[in-house]
Amino acid sequence: MSRPPALDPLFRSLRSIKGVGPQLGALLNRFFGGEGDTIALDLLMHMPTGLVDRRRMVGIAMAPPGHTSTLRLHIDRHIAPPRGRASQPHRVFAHDQTGEILLVYFRAQGNWIEKLLPVGEERFVSGTVGIFNGVKQITHPDYVVDVADFETMPLVEPVYPLTHGLTTKALTKLVRATVETLPELPEWIVPERLEQFPWPTFREAMTKVHVPKEPSDSELWGAARMRLAYDEYLAGQLALLIVRSTLVAAKGISRSFTGEITGRVESALPFELTDSQQLAITIIREDLAKPTRMSRLLQGDVGAGKTVVALMAMAAVAEGGAQSALMAPTELLAAQHLRTIQPLAEKAGLTVALLTGKQPAAERRAVLEGIASGAVNIVLGTHALFQGAVEFADLGLVVVDEQHRFGVSQRLALTDKGRHADLLVMTATPIPRTLVLTHFGDMDVSVLRDKPRGRQPIDTAVLSIGEYDRVIARLRARIEQGAQAFWVTPLVEESEVLDVVSAEDRYAALRDVFGDQVALVHGRMSAAAKQEVMDRFKANEVKILVATTVIEVGVDVPNATIMIIEHAERFGLAQLHQLRGRVGRGAQRSACLLLYKEPLSETARARLETIRDTEDGFVIAERDLDLRGQGDLLGTRQSGMPGYHLAVADVHKHLLEYAHNDARSIWRSNPGLTGPHGEALRALLYLFRKDLALPLIRAG
Ligand code: ADP
Ligand code: MG
Repeated sequence: MSRPPALDPLFRSLRSIKGVGPQLGALLNRFFGGEGDTIALDLLMHMPTGLVDRRRMVGIAMAPPGHTSTLRLHIDRHIAPPRGRASQPHRVFAHDQTGEILLVYFRAQGNWIEKLLPVGEERFVSGTVGIFNGVKQITHPDYVVDVADFETMPLVEPVYPLTHGLTTKALTKLVRATVETLPELPEWIVPERLEQFPWPTFREAMTKVHVPKEPSDSELWGAARMRLAYDEYLAGQLALLIVRSTLVAAKGISRSFTGEITGRVESALPFELTDSQQLAITIIREDLAKPTRMSRLLQGDVGAGKTVVALMAMAAVAEGGAQSALMAPTELLAAQHLRTIQPLAEKAGLTVALLTGKQPAAERRAVLEGIASGAVNIVLGTHALFQGAVEFADLGLVVVDEQHRFGVSQRLALTDKGRHADLLVMTATPIPRTLVLTHFGDMDVSVLRDKPRGRQPIDTAVLSIGEYDRVIARLRARIEQGAQAFWVTPLVEESEVLDVVSAEDRYAALRDVFGDQVALVHGRMSAAAKQEVMDRFKANEVKILVATTVIEVGVDVPNATIMIIEHAERFGLAQLHQLRGRVGRGAQRSACLLLYKEPLSETARARLETIRDTEDGFVIAERDLDLRGQGDLLGTRQSGMPGYHLAVADVHKHLLEYAHNDARSIWRSNPGLTGPHGEALRALLYLFRKDLALPLIRAG
């Protein structure tokens, strides 16, 4: 199962390459941000974002100003700056058959320019042609080469994302050296797909992209980039299937139900289940009854009522005598789940416990004992649930709430606690199909489409912060009528210019108006302090809660009917939607106010209007995908979920479906990834850093 030796050159540290000293090495490590040293593979996967075309060789007279040209020049004379006038450039006069041109160098030291461009000789010079005082000139040419060395000038040159201190030249040289060490690898794409798309081999594709002969070689819609995008998708899909096979195909336990406990929970509910809640519960019970492991994603917009579905699943598992664990992303949410779940569960005769990282030792020990003895049926908590010390008597079901903060590897780690435990993952982010495939291809999906009955639409308005006085007057009137309000401000980095109102600023300003009806909660407070403030808000002692986005996920205060979001232009669409979902949870009509600071760009306005015009999370998610890209939607930046380097969704996403299907048929016919094709696929997984999935493949 070890890495194919053919890939060894790609996994070499760049420091082993001649010309990469400690300084450049450190710079590359920072830039590529890996854990260890940057390796050759990192360079290979570093895609150009554009290119410079130096093929224009039309002579000085025809060289268009503002564009890159390559000229064959006869060098006539040099004029160095007069002594003590370092601000003046060094000028080189040159000509060809069509005209004259000036080559200009600022702050040139020493006489290297004389050596580079010897008078009386010919050189190929490439750079951007400009005009100064009516004379054509090139300032700091990109390339100057001897006529005999013309071959060494890259006529079509990729342009890479760079960082301070890293030049295109240095990077290009390293990338080219890497491409040269790349061996021809066995083909992993299935023949039928290659018949449909006449793509180059992986090696050819990498060569075209990094050492293009013509611009189309490295264009996003060119065959080379298409192939590489497909490869990346295929690696991702295959890895997900491997994960899925360990989760699902691994033996689960076939659960049976008496209907007793679930019946009691259902009759304790103060409302009727919606049709989609009912359907989801039925399907989950079917999953639980199967001898394979459940791995299901429950999608439902904010307020769709996912918690009850989870509770019914946990109650069903309890009927067979097994335990359930529900993991929330924050202690605040875990505590909130306790408050909703505990009364209902206890009416049904179940014991519920909360386990967090910050509990007093004695309390924690008691909870751990209850979990180990089986006295506790349902445990709620944060990721602390799945750390070493926790031993379950019989863990049957793991529920993960607000899934988008957890990645595939976390999913694997937590089902490890219960070897046969079923897995239910809940997410409030409506996820478009393409993203479900890329991030949750290993899971089955249920969707809660309809919202609980009696929900009122939320009146959403977009206003400039210039209307602050009016906003305050209206807020005061609503508060006097008994309403409660959230006032959300963006997180402000200390480094940011203080043009942005922070939660502290807004809290101070609102206190001047509303006195101690206002409270503040933000991410830097301790969990206990946050909880205390939230409790006072829930108890209606606090009327206005000023908050950073800590309230983003899951917080449920039905009496809160006003959501004011300041600097709404700084939030993502998904985030705004989540925030707005904090209101409109009770029977009263709710309002959401999106306050922006002028000037507002066209796109920013379009985004705010999207939120104003629809409450459909799926519509918003699709728009968000268009406007911001997938990383933001799923919060991958924080959670380190799989991102794509080579595939660009806008151009390549149609290939995802092919990769998905191909991965499935490969996995069906060759689940051990054996034989030559299996070897090829393993190499693919290593190339795209998905090899973590490989040890999961069961022998035989
Ligand atoms: P989310 O899907 O965002 O996690 P919750 O599970 O927190 O939503 O439910 C939101 C609110 O809706 C809660 O107050 C819950 O009690 C209530 N609720 C859930 N299901 C129903 C239903 N079928 N009818 C009425 N209210 C419901
Ligand atoms: Mg929830």
